[in-house]
Amino acid sequence: MPELPEVETVRRGLEAKTLGYAIEGGEVLLDRTVAYPETSAAFLGGLAGATFRQWRRRGKYLLSDLDRADGTRCGLGVHLRMTGQLLWCNRADPLQKHTRVRLFLTRDDDTTRELRFVDTRTFGQMWWIPPQVAEPTIVTGLQKLGPEPLSAKFTTEAFAAALAGRKRPIKTALLDQAIVAGVGNIYADEALFLSGIRSTTLCKDLSRDRIDKLRHNVVRVLEDSIALGGTTFSDFTGVTGTNGRYGGVARVYNRSGDPCHDCGTTIERIRLAGRSAHFCPKCQPET
Ligand SMILES: [Zn+2]
Repeated sequence: MPELPEVETVRRGLEAKTLGYAIEGGEVLLDRTVAYPETSAAFLGGLAGATFRQWRRRGKYLLSDLDRADGTRCGLGVHLRMTGQLLWCNRADPLQKHTRVRLFLTRDDDTTRELRFVDTRTFGQMWWIPPQVAEPTIVTGLQKLGPEPLSAKFTTEAFAAALAGRKRPIKTALLDQAIVAGVGNIYADEALFLSGIRSTTLCKDLSRDRIDKLRHNVVRVLEDSIALGGTTFSDFTGVTGTNGRYGGVARVYNRSGDPCHDCGTTIERIRLAGRSAHFCPKCQPET
């Protein structure tokens, strides 16, 4: 599942490729990919003629601002969920098997381009945000997001306050988008390893120093992964189909049964709140 670094990698690719292109038209091949408006025709109609101005990211959401011919501005929201991919294509490229939405783009005399949404598992969503309407009223889930981990709002004070007294495992808290936005399974496991904290440790048992260390390591693993283009495991690629390289440097994620790089102990995997958690039993002692 794409997490913050993967979504940020896609955002950067979209900024590099789509800015200045206008949406000439499109095609929705799976209606339920469009979460708003109610009909695919209204979605395509809202975007028609609008030009990509910028791409922002909030947690795992991609948000684009577009200029309309009448001088107003509208938006496009995208959540990749489990297997969504936004791909920079030529219109003549054969359709990928799981193509859900096609947006035909044009800039100056270049009329060959297309932004294509491909999604095997079909959980991905797209929203058109009409002019003068606030994104969180349209884009489901945006309102509940906690601080961006790479922003000044993700302070040790705020993080400690969100964890204080909570009787749930720290790993579960890290996956809670209301506590910190964009962190998923890979980076939660990696940040906990670097902090020497077992996934099952209860939030209330963490000292302020350990919370500070964990906050620092959440930022570190996200930045390291962004620098490597994210992690490619199954479906994730950048907009031009390039794979991320962070998987090769992961310390515990997806390494159960392999020796810990630091101490040689076998990495273990457990089930925690329906997800797998990977850890080194020696470097991350139970406390
Ligand atoms: Zn170890």
